[in-house]
Amino acid sequence: MNNFRHKKINTKNGSLKTPFFMPDATRGFVKFLNNEDIRKTGIVPMVVNTYHLFLQPTMEIIKKAGGVHKFMNYHKPLLSDSGGYQVFSLIHKNPKMGKITDEEVIFRSPASGEKHIITPEKSIQIQFDLGVDMMVCFDDPPPNNYSKEKISKAVERTIRWAKRCLIEYNKQIKKRKLTDKNRPLIFAVVQGGEHVDLRKRCADGLIEVGEEVGRDWDGYGFGARHVDEKGVFLEEILRATASFIPEKSLRFALGVGTPEDIVRCYPMGWDMFDCVIPTREGRHGRLFIRNKQSEFPISNFQFPNKSKKISKSKNKNSFYKIITIRNSKFKKDFAPVDKNCDCELCQNHTRAYLNHLFRSGDPLGMRLASIHNLRFYAKLMKELREM
Ligand SMILES: [Zn+2]
Repeated sequence: MNNFRHKKINTKNGSLKTPFFMPDATRGFVKFLNNEDIRKTGIVPMVVNTYHLFLQPTMEIIKKAGGVHKFMNYHKPLLSDSGGYQVFSLIHKNPKMGKITDEEVIFRSPASGEKHIITPEKSIQIQFDLGVDMMVCFDDPPPNNYSKEKISKAVERTIRWAKRCLIEYNKQIKKRKLTDKNRPLIFAVVQGGEHVDLRKRCADGLIEVGEEVGRDWDGYGFGARHVDEKGVFLEEILRATASFIPEKSLRFALGVGTPEDIVRCYPMGWDMFDCVIPTREGRHGRLFIRNKQSEFPISNFQFPNKSKKISKSKNKNSFYKIITIRNSKFKKDFAPVDKNCDCELCQNHTRAYLNHLFRSGDPLGMRLASIHNLRFYAKLMKELREM
């Protein structure tokens, strides 16, 4: 069985095989982990966030360091998110924090109150200054519960801004004398909320932009949340959106997700994933354990109807379970978290010891749990790549 997508992409910091998962090193680090910890989990690419790095430590410092790879001393592929989602959420939540026009977005830094202006062009310039290997267009991401009319307007703005981003991208390539071998890959973002027709309109509009500007997008992302307000996985929308993206382009499911959501998206044709779940859950003492009794081929995988709350995932058919290590039942449990896992935690420590670390509030517990969960994700992706 091999009708799954397996692509190889080359970046100036190494090649990657799809499907792959990127943890979020939002501010240039994964909380509690250093580069060696990341390397040992088997994770390679990571996501940094333009908005957060722009505000702190600021671009002045990153440029002085020689780019984000040198600043982090991480010389593997990095993708920067455009920061659009963060800026728009800030203003959607509190309109006093800024103003959105067709030309630009003006916003105030939540920390300092300082006023900043961001445009599609500026977002692309910042991402070139970061020196990342993959960058994402500055788009208009409306919440899924907005009216269809409002989402349609966001789709049209996303297309107009994508054109400005791609024109600026071409300018920067020329100015910086980059070639096809060392240029960053560029991704457009398909918006459209929970409306298949709007997703189609957005994808078609973005493809046209590529034709007009004379450069194909390297990939397309899935914009906005992949679950609805009740947490139900938007199966039809994700499947349709993937089908609207040209076969040869990379498909990036932004913010996806739980292990089962990744396993659901991959056969639809999604290649790349990023999410805070493995590390955030790890910091809260929730650990992923692969259920060896229920191996998937994907075709046999039983999808639950609803994307269950991560901490309450008790689906017996699932290929994994989650344990909450703080529970008193682990106080005297001297087995490893997962006897089949080769991570630093499982090779060296017991559940009882990790329970003690979490109950004592020591950061070592959060570090070890994050390492274990990233190892779980790295192994899951390897399994999918080998299918
Ligand atoms: Zn482990």
